[in-house]
Amino acid sequence: MGLKRRSFIITAITAATSAVLPQLALAAKKNEANKRVVVIGGGFAGATAAKYISMWSANTEVVMIERNAQFVSCPQSNLVLAGNRTLQQLTSDYRNLANIHGVKTVQAEVVDVNTQQQSVTLNDGTKISYDRLVLAPGLDFIYEQFPQLKNQQKVPHAWKAGPQTDLLHRQMMAMKQGGTIIMTVPAAPFKCPPGPYERACQIAFFLKHHNPTAKLIILDANADVISKKALFKAAWKQHYEGLIEYIPNSSIENVDIDNLTIETEFGQYKADVMNVIPTQKAGKVAEMAGVVNVDKRWCKVDFLSYESTAQSNIHVIGDAIHAKLPKSGHMANAQAKVCAAAISALFAGQKPEQEPVFNNTCYSFVTDKEAIHVAAVYRYNAEKKQMIAMPGSGVSDKSSVLEGRYADAWANNIWADTLK
Ligand SMILES: Cc1cc2nc3c(=O)[nH]c(=O)nc-3n(C[C@H](O)[C@H](O)[C@H](O)COP(=O)(O)OP(=O)(O)OC[C@H]3O[C@@H](n4cnc5c(N)ncnc54)[C@H](O)[C@@H]3O)c2cc1C
Repeated sequence: MGLKRRSFIITAITAATSAVLPQLALAAKKNEANKRVVVIGGGFAGATAAKYISMWSANTEVVMIERNAQFVSCPQSNLVLAGNRTLQQLTSDYRNLANIHGVKTVQAEVVDVNTQQQSVTLNDGTKISYDRLVLAPGLDFIYEQFPQLKNQQKVPHAWKAGPQTDLLHRQMMAMKQGGTIIMTVPAAPFKCPPGPYERACQIAFFLKHHNPTAKLIILDANADVISKKALFKAAWKQHYEGLIEYIPNSSIENVDIDNLTIETEFGQYKADVMNVIPTQKAGKVAEMAGVVNVDKRWCKVDFLSYESTAQSNIHVIGDAIHAKLPKSGHMANAQAKVCAAAISALFAGQKPEQEPVFNNTCYSFVTDKEAIHVAAVYRYNAEKKQMIAMPGSGVSDKSSVLEGRYADAWANNIWADTLK
């Protein structure tokens, strides 16, 4: 692609997209750039990739396209439900990526990817070409079985932190004394394996303090709690005895959002407040790019570069990939850095690092102050072409206030590493 065409496209972006942040300090860098990486998504994966590609790749312009004006963290969003955090505490803007790291941040929705022309189209019609594309779109929900759950305000999923989190919190506050909250857990894999069980703790914490005759029913499509099982079950017993009824193997067979009832194989359940977490798949833009190649849901990648196995010059990171790795913010951030280093190496005509190693840590709050964690180290296995968990991975002995402080420190660090 010629530089002439590139400058035309950049002029078009600036003219057409009002949300492009001013990039005065970047003028010099832009003129020197002879390569462009477009990153779709400004979550943990995309924002980290944009920052590190910009830091590590010479003569490279990085354009990050995100539909939302602000970053809202899913980690700690369960605490908003119980009133132990506010959404404001979990919200940041993208200013530092632009001002400190020279990323061109564009607020827009990508509506098409043309792999032949190596370009993406925004919702206002602007086309942006790329040398390499990084897809970090997170997840979308699968609504085929229960279309009534789509685009409605009665039964929030609250699985993307934001207005839905606030809605569920307000519904809990307004619920009558002695009422019933039902939450459902989809069959794995889904975003944040311990997330639903942390949510159960936070909902039960709220009930204990504001509505102690009420109860929470958890309808879990899985055979048991799928993460930190012993720790969650101990917390439910220690702190929330009598408040939580946990029913495993409970896939939804029908859901009536007008009457707030759910049917499973075991019976019909009536709620006063209902939180259905739908099954999930890679964000829709991955389908547009033709990189969804596992179970019509996930994207297979080469773990040395995160390049798609279906399309060259397209990398996929974060929740959207198919991997033996948890779908967590910590993982998304780590994968983004491996991907950024690989892109920088490839641009320099070198091979990516052949033995990447990274870790995952995931904290869950079981009360307002006490937390538990799971941690693991993953190393690339050349024979299996997979990231494999190393021996020694483990979980906390018990919940504690100290781990709660570590959880806050973890969150502050990862937000800073992703966005600052
Ligand atoms: C309740 C809850 C609690 C959690 N707690 C933790 C925790 O304690 N620790 C942890 O590590 N992880 C946690 N997670 C998981 C973590 O939030 C995800 O794994 C992480 O957000 C994945 O990052 P991502 O960048 O892949 O996706 P996301 O963070 O979802 O970002 C994707 C971004 O892409 C944008 N996008 C998608 N399509 C387009 C498009 N076409 N055009 C423009 N923009 C687009 C979206 O708007 C979004 O901002 C939790 C999740 C939930 C739901």
